[in-house]
Amino acid sequence: MMDEFALIEKFFARRAGARDDVRLGIGDDAAVTRVEPGFDLVIATDTINEGTHFPPGTSAHALGHRCLAVNLSDLAAMGAEPLWCTLALSIPSGSADWVDAFASGFMALADAHEIALVGGDTVRGPTSINVTVHGRVPADTAIRRDGVRAGDGIYVTGRFGCAAAGLAMLSGAATAAEQERSELVNRFLYPAPRVREGRALVGIASAMIDVSDGLHVDLSRMLHASGVGAMLDVEALQLPVESVDRFGRARALGFALTGGDDYELCFAVPPDREPELDRVTSGWECGVARIGRAGRDREVRWLDHGRVRSIDEPGFRHFVTADL
Ligand code: ADP
Ligand code: MG
Repeated sequence: MMDEFALIEKFFARRAGARDDVRLGIGDDAAVTRVEPGFDLVIATDTINEGTHFPPGTSAHALGHRCLAVNLSDLAAMGAEPLWCTLALSIPSGSADWVDAFASGFMALADAHEIALVGGDTVRGPTSINVTVHGRVPADTAIRRDGVRAGDGIYVTGRFGCAAAGLAMLSGAATAAEQERSELVNRFLYPAPRVREGRALVGIASAMIDVSDGLHVDLSRMLHASGVGAMLDVEALQLPVESVDRFGRARALGFALTGGDDYELCFAVPPDREPELDRVTSGWECGVARIGRAGRDREVRWLDHGRVRSIDEPGFRHFVTADL
């Protein structure tokens, strides 16, 4: 066991990425960063708790990756460039092995996105991890969720339903050996935030949201905020082959529409920007698909082989109470 100062020094302060715009990093009462003129600061925070967001026993390395990934996904959804982050860590014991693995997962992703860890907090308690990220966009270019107009194409990156299928496998639908090999489990444990893709959409997308709670519910939030609806086609969604093979098309489609944790982007593009979108997205490894078009009618309708499909599961919610 190490005390928190030794843990912070050994696993966080020495490994925190360096940036010129960090004037004072870990070690003082607060961090000091330099803000460039001509940019807007974009700030997001997300907490992940054991039992709510990940099963007990999830590897510390995966948690280190995940707590930063979910935050980077929020910056991606604004079209922002990540700069700095803070980490508030509540853990039941000061196990050096656990913190070492956690910090390795965290720093690998931080380094990949050149985001500097500038501070945080380390306390004893139930496992709960909060990260706050700061990013920037050129002034007035952040991509909001309320900008969809009737006629805009509705697009998504990547594949949907991987993480929910992976979680189902972790929760008992597969043997340990199958879990080890599964790309679906890997996608649940190590979500890939679409930061480069999000930034490339500045000036092209009229609105954007990242999909954390489920495609239907998050897309509906973007459309609702914009005061429009959409006609969508489930056949335009790329379903993960492994999920279809293991669970069948109907369940794989259910995971895709209402399962959470995919951290893909969903965005709208006005018709006159669609040629530019094709140019920008042609080299994207994750792929991109147009799944429908926004319309004035506020309904959100999914077609499956030409028939309207009703979505009865709402997607992930923390609080469902009668008076809200
Ligand atoms: P204070 O008591 O002044 O709030 P702390 O003892 O909590 O300071 O933290 C000391 C320094 O270490 C601060 O710079 C703080 O931001 C940083 N720090 C603490 N925990 C972490 C962590 N998990 N990751 C990164 N920096 C941390
Ligand atoms: Mg202090």
